[in-house]
Amino acid sequence: QVIYINGEFVKKEDAKVSVYDHGFLYGDGVFEGIRSYNGNVFRLEEHLERLYDSAKSVMLEIPHTVEEMTNIVVQTLRENKFKDAYIRLIVSRGVGNLGLDPYSCSHPSVIVIAEELSLFPKSMYETGIEIVSVATRRSRSDVLSPKVKSLNYMNNILVKLEANLAGVSEALMLNDQGYVAEGSADNIFIVRKNKIVTPPGYVGALEGITRNAIIDVAAKKGYEIQEGVFTRHDVYVADEVFLTGTAVEVISVIKVDGRVIGEGKPGSVTTDLLESFRELVQNDGVK
Ligand code: PLP
Repeated sequence: QVIYINGEFVKKEDAKVSVYDHGFLYGDGVFEGIRSYNGNVFRLEEHLERLYDSAKSVMLEIPHTVEEMTNIVVQTLRENKFKDAYIRLIVSRGVGNLGLDPYSCSHPSVIVIAEELSLFPKSMYETGIEIVSVATRRSRSDVLSPKVKSLNYMNNILVKLEANLAGVSEALMLNDQGYVAEGSADNIFIVRKNKIVTPPGYVGALEGITRNAIIDVAAKKGYEIQEGVFTRHDVYVADEVFLTGTAVEVISVIKVDGRVIGEGKPGSVTTDLLESFRELVQNDGVK
């Protein structure tokens, strides 16, 4: 396995960054989690658009054009001869001095790690998962927009810790007004009477690439799907609940805070959308 670091491919054991990198010191940087299916990188254009938007928002100038970055990602996949991979693209502020000031960092670090995919167990998709809502909030008044996928994931880590403590693998984050925002690394959808709803970005959700793909797929299939603000109550009484994300794709949620959702097994809309998504990813990607 080789890893791309600042223009070079190095062996995994030798892939190291400086302790003075502000990505390490302060979480100062942006990133993307991307996936390839059968050698095709899924929605790379959208991922790069989000990366460059995130970077612009925090005044981080990526030292490559989008075209160059596309090649770097694809080349990393080729060098490793991976077909089905998870790809982590990181741009940090780079090496500077110990102070906060980003201007001490002269050159951003660009890193691409590709790993052969370890799939989630099939049984998880067949039975669905249980989640809880947690105390960690997504604050809408934060200056940093939730649209920025920054290296500062402490909030999401806290969500994951709370999930672990509750004995489940994923949890639901509310925003500071109590509206449902998202999971620790995925978006949420609820289905009631065949209407599908997902929170809008302004509630405090990342605009997931998978989320947007599912919105397209569902609309094309004739489902009524929209963005909407909702509370935990709406989740509890939904017919179906599912999460979407690059790693997990589409996963059914069958219990939330101890309330059984619908019939307690993956519902027909969720199953249909997962199948359609899996068809889509095989045919839609950068080769
Ligand atoms: N929300 C957060 C906070 C995330 O980190 C992620 C995944 O990276 C998502 C949602 C899902 O987004 P995507 O479908 O682009 O992976």
